[in-house]
Amino acid sequence: MLEKVEVINMEKVIEEFESMTKDAERVQRETLKRILEDNSSAEYLKNFGLNGRTDPESFKACVPLATHKDLEPFIYRILDGDDSPILTGKSITTMSLSSGTTQGKPKYIPWNDELFESTMQIYKTSFAFRNREFPIKNGKALNFIYGSKQFKTKGGLIATTATTNVFRNPSYKPTMRSLQSQCCSPDEVIFGGDFFQSLYCHLLCGLIFREEVQLVSSTFAHSIVHAFRAFEQVWEELCNDIREGVLSSRVTVPSIRTAMSKLLKPNPELANIIHKKCSGLSNWYGLIPELFPNAKYIYGIMTGSMEAYLEKLRHYAGVIPLLTADYGASEGWIAANVNPKLPPELATYAVLPQIAYFEFIPLTQLEDEDSFSCLEPQPVGLTEVKIGEEYEIVMTTFSGLYRYRLGDVVKVMGFHNSTPELKFIRRSTLLLNINIDKNTEKDLQLAVEAAAKLLIQEKLEVVEFTSHVDLSSEPGHYVIFWEISGEASERVLSECCNCLDKSFIDAGYTSSRKVNAIGALELRVVRKETFQKILDHYLGLGTAVSQYKTPRCVGPTHNSVLQILSENVVDRFFSSAFN
Ligand code: AMP
Repeated sequence: MLEKVEVINMEKVIEEFESMTKDAERVQRETLKRILEDNSSAEYLKNFGLNGRTDPESFKACVPLATHKDLEPFIYRILDGDDSPILTGKSITTMSLSSGTTQGKPKYIPWNDELFESTMQIYKTSFAFRNREFPIKNGKALNFIYGSKQFKTKGGLIATTATTNVFRNPSYKPTMRSLQSQCCSPDEVIFGGDFFQSLYCHLLCGLIFREEVQLVSSTFAHSIVHAFRAFEQVWEELCNDIREGVLSSRVTVPSIRTAMSKLLKPNPELANIIHKKCSGLSNWYGLIPELFPNAKYIYGIMTGSMEAYLEKLRHYAGVIPLLTADYGASEGWIAANVNPKLPPELATYAVLPQIAYFEFIPLTQLEDEDSFSCLEPQPVGLTEVKIGEEYEIVMTTFSGLYRYRLGDVVKVMGFHNSTPELKFIRRSTLLLNINIDKNTEKDLQLAVEAAAKLLIQEKLEVVEFTSHVDLSSEPGHYVIFWEISGEASERVLSECCNCLDKSFIDAGYTSSRKVNAIGALELRVVRKETFQKILDHYLGLGTAVSQYKTPRCVGPTHNSVLQILSENVVDRFFSSAFN
């Protein structure tokens, strides 16, 4: 059956975005009104006595700020099959599982049609802007996406990851086709159920359609880097499959084999081209344009914790530009990248005022909260934020989250009309903290980047990293785990260790280190593939590869991850930087 492809008028999409953002305050009021009217029968809202009022002032006065923990009792009732209006007017029939890699365990989050609609709206908006600068036509995308398993909860609800809820929606494929982003792999590969076999076949499909591939993408940039690292290992096997027209025996899932057998025909000429191109590359620099000569750009979320992969991604990308995708979460979408020409390091995201009702807690108030002040944070509205200030995002959505603290910190970089352009800064939870020191995910990333430069002299790189606060002996100290691409000398590794210690420049840390209130930083080098084991561990818990983010700090909620790391330590160094 032929799929109906919607023709999207891109100029109209831009016009709508411009008109919404010119009037962001009014649009926010209307959005809140619609959310509260649609869900006026929801028990959660009724408990707070809004009595039909839908204005922001009454809403903020009656409904408190909430975290996922506050909502859990309601969410569990829904999961158990209570279909009364609990969080939303219309009962929730599907749940998303957020990746949960930052907190250690996946979280259940309500999913509904409105969330799908807003996903498409965000995709269309950023595509309309992107396509003006980087036009593609009748393109195929080598899209490293992976559906996760769906399962039924005790109460019969369908649960899976948010990305899978998107990929499985019947309108997803036609919309992607109209956005010139049709995935070159068949559904059986996307939903094959075995991560490595799907990855292998994504690569194979990309090579088969290499002339047609106009963009290489994934939800988060990590999956693209992961895929090309795997390519380095299996490229000869891929060439063989193409030469013989027979799929490698490593792919065993019958549905994937059947689907691939329809695409794979003996093609020695193509196999030779790829073989020659790969053999001619120095250290895989510029691999992507060699393999996909018509690729216009690489697309996926590249900010926040994904910045750690940019260097490697640029190496594979050569001359092809990297474009960061949009900003959102399983809980809901927030903002679109409407300035696609900016490199990921400078990227901002413009908030779509019609997709949710947004509030922003000034970071200074979060710091008060950290110091156990009893003051309830006082968020400001979308159009009240100030350029240069940092905030935690609070969202009220069409899917039953009210004044929900997302836990992300963003900085306002400017305005697009009257809607703010946000830079993603970090998750709001502190990563490394022993006493008066405060180091975030970003601080860790910068320290690792600085120290990793020392490895270049040995032609090595940090493949993955994470951190841990070790309080098992007095005084506590930071532990940084590194997986390295090869074997580094002891001399260089101890220099790296000192450099890490010196690179945490927050005054709380340096002053504590000087008086030994924090012990010497420890660098633990782990075996190759250790982080692959961590990824596999999360996949076993139901996390989607498409949403995977390496946990950058393993604490008490990550016991199994800490165990995997500890079992694979091959070398350890203590800093002498403050001796
Ligand atoms: P998930 O828990 O899998 O739903 O992932 C959502 C989280 O991923 C967000 O709360 C952010 O912390 C992060 N994230 C999503 N989009 C971006 C982006 N464009 N830049 C940086 N981080 C992002």
